Amino acid sequence: MNYEAIIGLEIHAELKTRTKLFCSCKNEFGGEPNSRICPVCTGQPGTLPYVNGEAVRLALRACLAFGCEINRTSKQCRKHYFYPDLPKGYQISQRETPLGISGCFEFISDGQVKCVGIEQIHLEEDAGKLVHRSDGKTAIDYNRAGVPLIEIVTSPELHSAQEVRDFLESVRLRLLRTGVSDCRMEQGSLRCDVNVSLRRAGEAVLNDRVEMKNINTFSGAARAVEHEIERQCKILDSGEAVLAETRKWDDEKRESRLMRTKETAVDYKFMPEPDIPAYVIDEKALTEAGYDIPESDVHRNIRYEKAGISRNDRERLIADVDMSDFFDGCISSSQNASECAKLIVGDVASLLTRENVTLSQSRLTPGMIVEIADLIVSGSLGRGNAKVILSKLLKNGGSVANAAAELMSIDDDAVIEETVKVIIADNPKAVADYKKGKENAVTYLTGQCMRSLRGRANAERLKTILLNELKGEN
Ligand SMILES: [Zn+2]
Repeated sequence: MNYEAIIGLEIHAELKTRTKLFCSCKNEFGGEPNSRICPVCTGQPGTLPYVNGEAVRLALRACLAFGCEINRTSKQCRKHYFYPDLPKGYQISQRETPLGISGCFEFISDGQVKCVGIEQIHLEEDAGKLVHRSDGKTAIDYNRAGVPLIEIVTSPELHSAQEVRDFLESVRLRLLRTGVSDCRMEQGSLRCDVNVSLRRAGEAVLNDRVEMKNINTFSGAARAVEHEIERQCKILDSGEAVLAETRKWDDEKRESRLMRTKETAVDYKFMPEPDIPAYVIDEKALTEAGYDIPESDVHRNIRYEKAGISRNDRERLIADVDMSDFFDGCISSSQNASECAKLIVGDVASLLTRENVTLSQSRLTPGMIVEIADLIVSGSLGRGNAKVILSKLLKNGGSVANAAAELMSIDDDAVIEETVKVIIADNPKAVADYKKGKENAVTYLTGQCMRSLRGRANAERLKTILLNELKGEN
């Protein structure tokens, strides 16, 4: 039987704020457990949360970056459930009035531009973390409790594991480029839930979906999707129905296990958050959040394509925020943009890895790449030498012209002889002085030759050739 997979995602991204969402505790990763907590974020009775304006600004920025309409009056609500990492017994979230709704996000998968609807983006707080210790006991670290999060809920419009992976990667880049989140997946600041359902190819009906919780890597999400599609295919092929349920994906064991069914679903008892007044998003707030949102990667891709950059180089540049920004510094002033792109994703990338530095830590500038690309295209510099020059500049800085002159020493005697002949012909007086035995005439003529060769000849070799020529004059 042929089935079509219908996949939706709920992506959680921690916001890059200085402090938590409802108190002034620092929003940082790691550190001594329970060292960044206060009565507010540990839910002590009698405390009053207040909303972090920077978190609202970043969440708004995300809504605008993903093409959402903005709910001008936004409210927080309480979502109740019991779990030890949630000190208040409820999470402050949004339900009826998320900050952003009805967005859409374009991304590139397998060379094609695709569009996925964004149902909503809402602002909520993160929970603490359970730490399973080696002595078999479980401890709780509340440092993460109250860290601001956005949840991006997509329409069920993805259809394969590869699409899920490409979409997540594009979302990550969008959040990074807009400065909304640092997207450190290894620190859990970007994670997702995956919803999968299957239907017979060509049918319009949406079947019950299976949700898989808390996936921490993009490859893990792709594996979870693949595994779930296979599991549901088997169930449907055997004539059974797939039940709506929540499963936990275990990426190490490559298996999922049942967490809860529809019957045991949690009733979150949503209620308006009485301690936080509704906030109004005015024009000023919208402008502040969105005036400098960077272009989309789909647009960037078109711009690079028009500049003649190959698909492979485009993909590599766009996948790296620093590199593409650096390349943008070249593209504006270079006639040879595709050569610049080749240099950056090739030699520059490999040298950075070798030296274990980032582009911003290196001494390279876009202007250097433009100059080197011009030299290569004009035929004055070979690729091997370009890499040597890049390596030097990356570590020590300096000018491309000097580095190239040092490197391009002339070891071809014919070139030196030719120069010597021209200088001798042009300086009859110095030659006459030499014949009279004036030794400093040789120094003068050597200087003239070296100048003409722009210092690129070996001085000893030059002197030998010059003396031979002068003797031949006799
Ligand atoms: Zn706090």
